[in-house]
Amino acid sequence: MSKVPSALTDMFERNQKHAESRKGIPTLMQMHNRQRTPDDGVMIITCADPRLNPYAIFGLDETAQQRFPVVIRNAGGRTFDALRSIAVLDAIGSPSTIVVMHHSDCGMTHFHDADVKNILLSRTEDPAERKWIENTKYGEMLGPPEDSIREDVTLLRNSPFVRKETQIVGVKYDVFKGTVEVINVP
Ligand SMILES: [Zn+2]
Repeated sequence: MSKVPSALTDMFERNQKHAESRKGIPTLMQMHNRQRTPDDGVMIITCADPRLNPYAIFGLDETAQQRFPVVIRNAGGRTFDALRSIAVLDAIGSPSTIVVMHHSDCGMTHFHDADVKNILLSRTEDPAERKWIENTKYGEMLGPPEDSIREDVTLLRNSPFVRKETQIVGVKYDVFKGTVEVINVP
C-alpha cells in the first residue's frame, strides 16, 4: 500500500473509526427506488467554507442522508458553477426542492473576480491561457448575500437543467449565529 502523505495522516487515522461504523448502507439503486416514490429529496447548493457544514446545520445524520439529500459545494455556492452536477443529480434523485444557501462573511464578498484573475495571470505569460483566464467568471459577490441568492435562484428557475415543478428556495446562513433564514425571491 502506498504511503499516506503526511498532511493526511490524521485524516486517514480518523477514517479508520469512520469505516468501523459503516453498517447497512444502501446501494445507489436502492436509494434511487426509495426516492422515486415520495419524491421528497432535497438538493442543497452551498459554499465550500469550512465554517459552514450543511450536514450539521440541517441535522442530516446517517438516517436522514438515506432520504437522498444531496449537497453540492463550491466557492460561494454559486449555481452557474454547479449546473452540471445539478443536471446529473436531478436525473438520479429528482429532488422536489433545491436550496440555494449563501452565507455571511463569505470569501466571495472579500475576493472579487479581478483579484482571482490577477493571481492567475501572474502565473502565466501564455496568451491563450491569459485570454481564457480573462474570459472566465469566478462568482464574485459585490453585494449582500440576499443579492447573490436572488440571482442564483432566478438562474435555476430559468435553467433547462431544472424541472419546472421543482421548488427552489433561497436561504441565508449566518456563520456566527448558526441560523438560517429564507430569502424571498419574487
Ligand atoms: Zn462562502
